[in-house]
Amino acid sequence: MRFSKLRLTGFKSFVDPTELLIHDGLTGVVGPNGCGKSNLLEALRWVMGENRPTAMRGGGMEDVIFAGASSRPARNFAEVCLTMDNSERLAPAGFNDSDQLDIVRRITRDVGSAYKANSKDVRARDVQMLFADASTGSQSPALVRQGQISELINAKPKARRRILEEAAGISGLYQRRHEAELK
Ligand code: ATP
Ligand code: MG
Repeated sequence: MRFSKLRLTGFKSFVDPTELLIHDGLTGVVGPNGCGKSNLLEALRWVMGENRPTAMRGGGMEDVIFAGASSRPARNFAEVCLTMDNSERLAPAGFNDSDQLDIVRRITRDVGSAYKANSKDVRARDVQMLFADASTGSQSPALVRQGQISELINAKPKARRRILEEAAGISGLYQRRHEAELK
């Protein structure tokens, strides 16, 4: 599956609906400091199920909702939609009913997050597993945060192992084992 589009609404600085088309090959995002480049990468992580507010540079998850500016009031919800090309029908069972797969995450103040896959309600876990198994998950080494390279160099062995496991595509298995042990 290939990412083809990211749409943000009320997410951080992207108050108005904004679409980023992701074409084949390399996509570069350039702009002055503070224009929202890192926010785009965070939106990608977030829609894939990231649940640590610190990974979003926030104190709580609702901090991703547009907080208002001098001329614009704050929003009540934030939504990110990630569109994937599924024309080769590589999506796992339950997600594989069309040539395009839209994963939507919406957070509403005082309500929390809800996810949809092609307009149908799905659980956070299903979305997290979908991406963890595809090795592109919210904690994937394919997504490199600002400052992460120096963190990696200084990482303890256990933290480095987690990165290798995610790259090997086995991190979804740990969650499944953990859930099996709880049953
Ligand atoms: P740099 O080049 O310095 O790395 P950048 O392009 O990566 O900058 P970001 O860090 O993505 O910029 O964007 C920061 C901007 O997003 C700041 O102006 C900040 O005020 C704004 N921002 C972050 N969260 C929110 C929010 N919840 N509501 C409104 N604006 C927000
Ligand atoms: Mg940045």
